[in-house]
Amino acid sequence: MIKGKVAIITGASSGIGYATALALSKAGAKVAIGARRVDKLEALAKKITDNGGEVFYQKLDVTQRLECDNFAKAVLEKWNSIDILVNNAGLMPLSFFKSLKVDEWDKMIDVNIKGVLYSTGAVITHMKEKKSGHIVNLSSVAGRVVFASGSVYCATKFAIAAFSEGLRKEFSARTNIRVTSIEPGVVDTELNDTITEDSLKGFVENAKKMEALHAEDIANAILYAVESPPHVNVNEILIRPTTQEL
Ligand code: NDP
Repeated sequence: MIKGKVAIITGASSGIGYATALALSKAGAKVAIGARRVDKLEALAKKITDNGGEVFYQKLDVTQRLECDNFAKAVLEKWNSIDILVNNAGLMPLSFFKSLKVDEWDKMIDVNIKGVLYSTGAVITHMKEKKSGHIVNLSSVAGRVVFASGSVYCATKFAIAAFSEGLRKEFSARTNIRVTSIEPGVVDTELNDTITEDSLKGFVENAKKMEALHAEDIANAILYAVESPPHVNVNEILIRPTTQEL
């Protein structure tokens, strides 16, 4: 069903974004991959091409609105369509609020919230005009459950849950744009590497010990949502490792 469709995936240089680019490409989509580490994008693009897929890549920092706009423009110039946007880029430098890691709060707000708004803003007019499209946002279990040390991260993911529902109300019935919020529990990726708070080393070690989800598990959930027929709007997928309690 997504064969020949064009999908933009932000934060595709590692983890869930990387696995999603591969999964969507394997299902026949043309994939446009963005992130800041261009060497990683280049390696992924080669892998996709070697597998017979079609790929476009360009440096993308989602905190820069102009880069989001230029990325979408370049994709439209190349393929004349954008059918799917996966807003995946994100950071999780957990810390206790009392540590006052203001730079990290700013980064999370800039990437996890503003980056999603800028990337969506860059494609929405096109999708609205053609009366079809699919926006997939990476929220989290942390967009449903709040924990100490996650107050700011959880706030960003609650924001994404709210934004997803707002988009659905504004666009789905009127313009056929579908909206999916993906809410993973612990996934084995580089995400924990952004944590700098010393007192959370134990948290990170425990997360490493548990049988976490794999990036491919989330890619499969995204594939399910975007492969669903046009009348089916898969709004939320909450997916935890079986061993995760929180
Ligand atoms: P990774 O750290 O492996 O991937 C994060 C991606 O985001 C990287 O490709 C990184 O690329 C990209 N990124 C970071 N900053 C920017 C930026 N300014 N502009 C563009 N891209 C950026 O983590 P995950 O794959 O786990 O995370 C993907 C998403 O899934 C995130 O939104 C995360 O919050 C969410 N999630 C993850 C969970 C987990 O347990 N892993 C659980 C729930 C949700 P680069 O550095 O090259 O720019």
